[in-house]
Amino acid sequence: MNRAVIIGGGLAGAAAAARLGSGALLLEREAGAHDKICGEFLSGEAGAMLAGLGFDLARLGGAPIDRMRLHSGQRTVDVRLPFVATGISRRVLDAALLEHAEGQGADVRRGVTVRHLADGRAVTSDGELGGSLLLATGKHEMRGMKRDTAGTISGLIGFKMFFRAPAIAARIGSAVEVTLFEGGYAGLQPVEGGRVNLCLLVEAGRLQAEGGGWQGLFAALLAEPGLARLAEAEALLAKPLTISGVPYGFLARPDAGDDLWRLGDQAAVIPSFCGDGMAMALHGGALAGSMVAAGANAAQFQAQLRRDTARQVRLATRLQRFAMHPAGRFALLAGLGAVPAAMALLARWTRVVAPAPLPVAG
Ligand SMILES: Cc1cc2nc3c(=O)[nH]c(=O)nc-3n(C[C@H](O)[C@H](O)[C@H](O)COP(=O)(O)OP(=O)(O)OC[C@H]3O[C@@H](n4cnc5c(N)ncnc54)[C@H](O)[C@@H]3O)c2cc1C
Repeated sequence: MNRAVIIGGGLAGAAAAARLGSGALLLEREAGAHDKICGEFLSGEAGAMLAGLGFDLARLGGAPIDRMRLHSGQRTVDVRLPFVATGISRRVLDAALLEHAEGQGADVRRGVTVRHLADGRAVTSDGELGGSLLLATGKHEMRGMKRDTAGTISGLIGFKMFFRAPAIAARIGSAVEVTLFEGGYAGLQPVEGGRVNLCLLVEAGRLQAEGGGWQGLFAALLAEPGLARLAEAEALLAKPLTISGVPYGFLARPDAGDDLWRLGDQAAVIPSFCGDGMAMALHGGALAGSMVAAGANAAQFQAQLRRDTARQVRLATRLQRFAMHPAGRFALLAGLGAVPAAMALLARWTRVVAPAPLPVAG
């Protein structure tokens, strides 16, 4: 089997490495565990995919989440989720999955940056490496390999902050609370260690209207009933993590002439609102691992991954556009209030479910 060189040690890269074991060399530019901007809502499907990789999620002490509370202005709908999700920080989860991949025999090298790709080789801060190249750099583009993001929703700005907030944690219980507001939405949920994660996306126009920065935006959002009590909470990061230019709705096209394997956010970007990006990254990583081992090529993999994810990405992107619109927000709350069971359907339609694993070459 051709050695796989995996570029990026997020969930997609680590899942591929865990599946390939000693057939994988993984390069991650960060030298140690680090925070990432993410709502940190790990869906039930993602939990099942981790179990399929032999990974023990329970030992990380995440917070179980089995309800969603949707707020818009003074209105709230509380629905049961059709699965039990886990609130777990990416700092803990990603580092643990990389360790697991190492335990499976993968060669994991941290603190190594891939600078560019040339003639089927990865040019790194540590020399040149060849093999099947699996690109799993998440939101970070590789020089010369930029995704074509035409037609995606890419104008949102993301912020994430951890809080110590016992009163809020007690109110939230085992729910993820989503607040839809003018120009964006925010997710608030428990993670391990008794902390609460606030992660939000906002349109540039709304951010500018609130002074262009976190302080003004955060102060304005405290007027939302779902977020009001954060005023009393203790912020745990010196400043929020931020992100911009995420191309929601992006789907990589299979190209018979391309021998680069694109995984995770490099292959498909599902709106954060659905909380399934991690499952898609894990699925793509595990699928790539199986298909490399079975001797498939990059175009076959990309076509399979697109079949597994395109419907979910397209539906979730439509839902995100809908929820960002005032009439859409109203309709969403009214609809879920009247028919709570619709939540299960929406969740099912936007989830990626792993097909049966492919046979691994002996
Ligand atoms: C605001 C926001 C909220 C979200 N909330 C949720 C949620 O609640 N639930 C959910 O399921 N999904 C959520 N997502 C989506 C989820 O975070 C992503 O889909 C997922 O992290 C993609 O995993 P990945 O492995 O592709 O990329 P990443 O997790 O981003 O990993 C990429 C890795 O590659 C490394 N890297 C980058 N460039 C190089 C290089 N040149 N050389 C070596 N290494 C490199 C990086 O350091 C990083 O570790 C959210 C996304 C956003 C933006």
